[in-house]
Amino acid sequence: MQYRSTRGGSPAVTFSEALLAGLAPDGGLYVPTEWPRLAPEDFVSGASLPEIAHTLISPFAAGDVLAAALGDITADACNFPAPLVPVGEAGYSVLELFHGPTAAFKDFGARFLAASLARLRPAGVRPLEILVATSGDTGGAVAAAFHRRPGIRVAVLFPEGLVSPAQEQQLTCWGDNVRAFAVQGSFDDCQRLVKAAFVDPALRRELDLSSANSINLGRLLPQAAYHAATALAVWRREGRPASFVIPSGNLGNALACIWARHVGLPIGEIVLAHNANRTVPDYLSGQPWQPRRSIATLASAMDVGDPSNMERLQALYPQFATLQAAVTGDVVDDAAIRRRITADHAAYGRIWCPHTATAAEVMARMPAARKAGSAWVIVATAHPAKFREIVEPLIGCAVPIPASLARLHERPTSKEPLAPQLDALRRALLATAHTAGAPT
Ligand SMILES: *Cc1c(COP(=O)(O)O)cnc(C)c1O
Repeated sequence: MQYRSTRGGSPAVTFSEALLAGLAPDGGLYVPTEWPRLAPEDFVSGASLPEIAHTLISPFAAGDVLAAALGDITADACNFPAPLVPVGEAGYSVLELFHGPTAAFKDFGARFLAASLARLRPAGVRPLEILVATSGDTGGAVAAAFHRRPGIRVAVLFPEGLVSPAQEQQLTCWGDNVRAFAVQGSFDDCQRLVKAAFVDPALRRELDLSSANSINLGRLLPQAAYHAATALAVWRREGRPASFVIPSGNLGNALACIWARHVGLPIGEIVLAHNANRTVPDYLSGQPWQPRRSIATLASAMDVGDPSNMERLQALYPQFATLQAAVTGDVVDDAAIRRRITADHAAYGRIWCPHTATAAEVMARMPAARKAGSAWVIVATAHPAKFREIVEPLIGCAVPIPASLARLHERPTSKEPLAPQLDALRRALLATAHTAGAPT
């Protein structure tokens, strides 16, 4: 299986080359050159989530150096459950993706990529240096996934003082091969520094740099697995397709669901729940594609004004009418997020994080006839305990903290201050470049 750039300006690459590169050299995103076909019968009945992931991803890695290790990689990536839980009398279910080490769905993709990259580093060569800029919520999943992977070092850059205390804890509690840099600047400064590092001749000569951001194919594909597993479970139980409402920002999670349907999984409707960043819903309603600056909302991990995965969606559906038929979208503002968290706690005893609440709100707005036509699933992207300061005042009680998060909060932390200049980052990275390849 080969991968091409959505922009058509760089050569096709293998599966593992796409994982190592992240972005294509022409600035595009990697997509398969041809599509595998899978039917429900291709999946062993009673298969576990890692087994379903293995069956689903195998054709995407066909012929690749990682193919033989794929069973181990999916077992490593999906080593925590993704249960489908009915929501009281509401008439839909919730797919809980928050049982991983940092209590959000990004743990699946980050762990798959980490397990893959660790196997692509021959012993004895200099370590792979992963650079990540984070505004707070996503860097933790990457840090956790790469912690103590042999042959890999991670530098996480976050804006000092601009992330919540809980987020900072999750970025700075790792140590070993993971360094956390508190940049004296904004998130944009962090991103600018990472981009500058990738094109800096001295750094490129001395280090093997890579990124682990969410557009990497290795983060996208494993996200198709839990949508597939859910669709198979519903299909076998009810004999009808599952339809999904997905809290969306950069469209990575939703695109994985769309790919799962495209290869043949029994998936019906796919509805994108966006916060007040309405670029995608406006486009789907027929307005011109109009990227904008992101606006801050309660569902901050979805604050994306220019979702890069739209390129992949357009590559799959070059005709606008076909794209419009494939997905629908809705906008949920902060006031509606707040009301939904309060209402569903009162009605069903469920506590949503602000991101999941956008999907619950879209579900609540759905006309009864459309609701009755499908087995509906809302996707819970994070545990509410990650957003206690928002959620607790709305429900009037404490959110129970899952054991995984509690463990993170017991770990000692360390961070290194960093001036927002490339020179400072260069010195910090090179100072330890030739020590510590394999962490203890
Ligand atoms: C990243 C994230 C999202 C948005 O997912 P995309 O793949 O960017 O669309 C939604 N909810 C949470 C909790 C997230 O961390």
